[in-house]
Amino acid sequence: MRAVVFENYEQFPSLTDVPKPSPGPGDVLLRVAGAGACHSDVSVYRHFKEGQPGAQKPPFVLGHENSGWVEELGEGVSDRVKVGEAYLAYGPIGCGHCRKCAKGQDTYCENVATMPYMAVGLGRDGGMAEYVTVPAHHLVPLGDADPVDAAPLSDAGLTPYHAIKQALPHLNSGGRHALVIGLGGLGQIGVQILRALTGATVIATDVKPEARARAEQNGAITVGAGERQVEQIREITGGRGVDAAFDFVGVTPTIATAAASLAQGGRLTVVGIAGGTHEFSFFTTPYESYLTNSYWGTVEDLWEVVDMYRAGQIRPDVERFGMEDALEAYRKLESGEVAGRAVVVP
Ligand code: NAD
Ligand code: ZN
Ligand code: ZN
Repeated sequence: MRAVVFENYEQFPSLTDVPKPSPGPGDVLLRVAGAGACHSDVSVYRHFKEGQPGAQKPPFVLGHENSGWVEELGEGVSDRVKVGEAYLAYGPIGCGHCRKCAKGQDTYCENVATMPYMAVGLGRDGGMAEYVTVPAHHLVPLGDADPVDAAPLSDAGLTPYHAIKQALPHLNSGGRHALVIGLGGLGQIGVQILRALTGATVIATDVKPEARARAEQNGAITVGAGERQVEQIREITGGRGVDAAFDFVGVTPTIATAAASLAQGGRLTVVGIAGGTHEFSFFTTPYESYLTNSYWGTVEDLWEVVDMYRAGQIRPDVERFGMEDALEAYRKLESGEVAGRAVVVP
């Protein structure tokens, strides 16, 4: 079958032929409906070096945002999983036996250090292929919802959802403001989730005017990337600053913008993995503010994200690419030319 393979560190992936997989015990074989191209893949093949924390050993098939139709059940899989029906696949893979995995929080697996891979499509073969195997207990049913548009939900939906859910105590009173920095795959869905789950005014920013225009359609007030950015954000909040900021870029300047825009007691969540830093001291952030990072989400969160999608509260903005154009999707993602989320449809 055709697949997008990450062959070696610091090397652009290749489109090549690999054997069709067969499902092991507890897994199912999915015929892929859609596989999203996440910006983290760019870090995987451009930046990570062997042995670095987070680096996943090549070769493997990329694609950690996957949906598809169940084609075959592996040994021991319940017939509650229906062959022929459409499901979304949760990506992270923990040991399955610690207290965090027991709660569907594979992202916090206590045995992560001894796991051979991090996720489907990150160390283990992913969904940028005609078929992928995934653990049966990580499937979320899609019913009659469009599985191609749903594919990005398993990361570009789940990751902002999880970050926002943790920040809800900061946003659930009147007069609240949220800031979203970086309006690509994750950020656009982040704006939609904030609008659906909170009454907060959503302020959004991106270097690209077309990304800001899309966020406005999703109900955000936007500010440009200029010098007056923090001042403009403060003006919109009546001088108070934002109660929660979500940085989907994560370079030093965006973290600085988010920190400078916070209200007293506000919460800054860094989601982007660009590796930017922020000096934390009594004087560099508002009093009693919270600084945190956020990693993906839980299986339960993903069920909730699918509920929101099926209720029409989340509408992923998908640009579809055929299998033979999959590498073009990554080229466009790198050059900032993807509108919304690129999804490969094999
Ligand atoms: P994307 O390429 O779809 O979107 C990034 C957006 O940020 C683009 O619209 C771009 O124009 C904008 N941008 C870039 N630099 C900017 C700057 N300096 N100021 C303002 N806007 C800027 O990327 P994505 O797939 O949405 O991923 C976003 C980030 O989140 C990446 O770093 C990715 O690796 C990371 N990520 C983290 C997790 C997690 O669990 N923490 C999960 C998925 C992705
Ligand atoms: Zn991702
Ligand atoms: Zn575990």
